[in-house]
Amino acid sequence: MKIAFIGLGHMGGPMAVNLQKAGHSVAAFDLSKPACDKFAAAGLTIAASAEAAVQGAEVVISMLPASRHVQALYLGAGATGEGGLLAHIAPGTLVIDSSTIAAATSQQVARAADAAGIDFIDAPVSGGTGGAIAGTLTFMVGASAAQLERARPVLEKMGSNIFHAGSVGAGQTAKICNNMLLGILMIGTSEAIALGVANGLDPRVLSEIMRRSSGGNWALEKYNPWPGVQENAPSSKDYAGGFGTDLMLKDLGLAQENAGAVQASTPLGGLARSLYAMHSMSGHGGLDFSSIVQSLQKRAS
Ligand code: NAD
Repeated sequence: MKIAFIGLGHMGGPMAVNLQKAGHSVAAFDLSKPACDKFAAAGLTIAASAEAAVQGAEVVISMLPASRHVQALYLGAGATGEGGLLAHIAPGTLVIDSSTIAAATSQQVARAADAAGIDFIDAPVSGGTGGAIAGTLTFMVGASAAQLERARPVLEKMGSNIFHAGSVGAGQTAKICNNMLLGILMIGTSEAIALGVANGLDPRVLSEIMRRSSGGNWALEKYNPWPGVQENAPSSKDYAGGFGTDLMLKDLGLAQENAGAVQASTPLGGLARSLYAMHSMSGHGGLDFSSIVQSLQKRAS
C-alpha cells in the first residue's frame, strides 16, 4: 500500500519506520530538516513537501504536536480549506490523524474532508516512544465501523491494541481522559518516591515495594520518574526523548477545556495542569514529563 506519513517526531518517525518494515511504500515528510535527515538515515523515503508525499497515496497518516498544526496542515492558515493539504489528497483516500488534539478540531477537519470525498478519522495513541518503536501502541479510534475496518490493517502494523471509541472525535476524548489520569499518577508516583527518599529509603527498593503493592501503576511498571531505577526510562537519560512536559501540559489543558464544556468536575486534573505549567515555566518544558519529580524534591543548594 502507498502511505504518506506527515510528522516524524519522537512518535511519528518510528511509526513510519514500522509501516515501511511491514512492506508498505512510505513517503514521509516533516517541516524539520533534522527530523527528515534522522529518518532518511533509518531508511525512510523523504518527500520534498507534504503535497508531494500525498501524491498517489491510498492512506495519509499525520502525527503532529497540537490542534493548530493539524488545522494548518489540512485546512491551511485560514481554516477555510484553501491552501490546505486536503485540496491535494485524492477523493476516496483514508486520512488517519494520530496526533492528540481537541475532539472539536478532529470533527472540523473531518467535515471538510467529507465535503471533498475523503475519509478522515482520529486515532490518537498511547504507549509512549517505546510503544512506537516496538509497534505495540494502543490506538483509540474515532470513526465509523466501516472506516475503522479500512484503517485496521495499517494500524495493526504500528500497534497491538485497537479500540473503537465512537464516531469521529471520540478517540480524542478517550485519549485526554487517559492522559489526565497519566499526568495525575505521575505526580502521585513522584511525590511518593521523593517522600521515601527524603526518609532515607532506596528509590529502587521503594519503587519495587509499591509496584507490587496497592500503589502499583504504569509509571512504576514502565516509566519510573526517579533516575537510575529503570535503565530505559527517560529519567535515566536526563529526561531526554519520551513525552515532553509541554505536550502533557497541552493534553491537560484539553481535558480542562472539555471538562468546562460538559461541566464535569476534574479537580485533580486542574491541579496537575497547574503543576506541569509551573514546571514548564521554570525551564523544563522540553524535558520528558516524568521530570516533574524534580519540582517535588529538595534540591542540593
Ligand atoms: P514531536 O514534537 O516529537 O513531533 C512532532 C513533529 O511534527 C515535529 O518533528 C514537527 O517538526 C512536525 N511538524 C509540525 N507541524 C508539521 C507540519 N505542518 N508538517 C510536517 N511536520 C510537522 O511530538 P511527538 O512526541 O512525536 O508527539 C506527536 C503527537 O503524539 C502529539 O500530539 C503528542 O501529544 C502525541 N503523543 C506523544 C507521545 C509521546 O510519548 N511522545 C505519546 C502519545 C501521544
